[in-house]
Amino acid sequence: MSVVSKSHIAFDNTEIAFAYKSDDDLKAANFLFSSMGFEWLVKIGTRITPWAVRSGLPIKGMIRKTIFRQFVGGESLDATKVVANMLAGYNVQSILDYGVEGGEDGEDGFDHSMQEFLKVIDYASGVPSVPFISIKVTGIARFALLEKLDDLMHAGTDTLVNRYQKALSLLGQNEQAEWGRVVERMQMLCERAAEKQVAVLVDAEETWIQDPVDALTCIMMDKYNRHTCFVYNTVQLYRHDRLPFLRSMVEAAKLRNFILGAKLVRGAYMEKERHRAEDKNYPSPIQPDKESTDRDYDEAIQLCLDHLESVAVIVATHNEHSNRLAAELVMKKGLPHNHPHVHFSQLYGMSDNITFNLAHAGFSVSKYVPFGPIEDVVPYLMRRAQENSSVGGQTGRELLLLRKEMKRRSIK
Ligand SMILES: Cc1cc2nc3c(=O)[nH]c(=O)nc-3n(C[C@H](O)[C@H](O)[C@H](O)COP(=O)(O)OP(=O)(O)OC[C@H]3O[C@@H](n4cnc5c(N)ncnc54)[C@H](O)[C@@H]3O)c2cc1C
Repeated sequence: MSVVSKSHIAFDNTEIAFAYKSDDDLKAANFLFSSMGFEWLVKIGTRITPWAVRSGLPIKGMIRKTIFRQFVGGESLDATKVVANMLAGYNVQSILDYGVEGGEDGEDGFDHSMQEFLKVIDYASGVPSVPFISIKVTGIARFALLEKLDDLMHAGTDTLVNRYQKALSLLGQNEQAEWGRVVERMQMLCERAAEKQVAVLVDAEETWIQDPVDALTCIMMDKYNRHTCFVYNTVQLYRHDRLPFLRSMVEAAKLRNFILGAKLVRGAYMEKERHRAEDKNYPSPIQPDKESTDRDYDEAIQLCLDHLESVAVIVATHNEHSNRLAAELVMKKGLPHNHPHVHFSQLYGMSDNITFNLAHAGFSVSKYVPFGPIEDVVPYLMRRAQENSSVGGQTGRELLLLRKEMKRRSIK
């Protein structure tokens, strides 16, 4: 059955979606998503698990066999290569993500993360199905320093880069030197990526550190994205200020003649953002409701697709409507399905119906595949559990699709 007509794409073909899963894989996924449907279980699990792993309790084996197996490529780059090769067999590309974040590890830890990122770039350079790697600035910079810079950047209404330059001048001498090392790491990563023809996606994190991340990423885009898009920033449309931000970035790209790399996401830290705003008594940066997030997300897609000469977009979402909108706009505009400036991506372990059906229809699409030791990917896993358990989350749809495929294969 064809999944695409001249102007329409369907995401309900489970035979295509789950072709890579064995019967046992399907049963395991069904069990996991069923468990994540119990909000109380996820609430307890997400509180206890990080503590239990830190305390060295023997739960790694259980994590490895369940949630880790579903959402993570492996504990090392070598193990993850197997997953990337498997996906490539279905025309699905991979964004490799060394899962370190939010470290207070000190300079050695940040240098170690950078070396890991460089290794991933080197690996990706020889593998056409791995065109991107993903990084978090909190993997190479101290969170408290980012927070301080962000705080200093709020003072004023100047452009992002001017506010950043002013904030830097307000840091003490030691902090300036420390930030200099962060810039060096970032520069080294972007330089190596451009040299090896691999793109670097910079993840978006909490609003209270995001301004310096945006500024640093924009400076790198200005430097490296002259002819090809090697650096992408992430725009979280659950923030009510991000559509104007994206518009200003599109203008800046046109004015300064670089390609804006824009990975569009809704955003993964909603509860944390709302709680902090309430605790510290400032207006929440998050949209008032889901409809507003959805509206801005879809407008952001439209904006990027209307400026493809200066924008390379990654539609990073599990939302069927947004994926369909982007795919159908590409078709309506008469663009090739695999246009070099339009890419789709879903997280490994989620929404296979979207990824594999898009790939089947010839779109450029990837899985975002995190990897790393269990203790390092725990925060990522806890976010996936919360996201899949929340009301209106993905679990219902995932279960429906998994069960449809199990029925088709007559699996009991
Ligand atoms: C490839 C890829 C890369 C990603 N990278 C990042 C990243 O760098 N940074 C990051 O933060 N996230 C990232 N994410 C996660 C992403 O932000 C979302 O958490 C996740 O994808 C769920 O949103 P959705 O668009 O897939 O689906 P949907 O199910 O349609 O949307 C759920 C999302 O809508 C928003 N939302 C839900 N309820 C409300 C409400 N009441 N009011 C306002 N908004 C609401 C929240 O953002 C929630 O996560 C990434 C996702 C993918 C697929």
